[in-house]
Amino acid sequence: MAEKLKVTIDREECTSCQVCWESCPDVFEESPEDGLSRITEAYRSENDEGEGLLPEDLESCVEEAAEGCPVEIIRYEILE
Ligand code: SF4
Repeated sequence: MAEKLKVTIDREECTSCQVCWESCPDVFEESPEDGLSRITEAYRSENDEGEGLLPEDLESCVEEAAEGCPVEIIRYEILE
């Protein structure tokens, strides 16, 4: 399946509340370096751990995480 879903986390604003990596662990995880959310290695961009490119079928998982994020810093878009 083509990878078409772009996800970004504004990591500087993350409060480490755990909501995203608990609700969507395929895509989000806690960074062992700074304790903030980042994209899992499978989907992470090479030079930005707050950005990733995912298969479209993970959209509902990402949507749940984005809606649950208390500081609303998870954004996603379908790439044409
Ligand atoms: S839900 Fe938002 S604030 Fe909470 S850990 Fe994830 S990105 Fe950070």
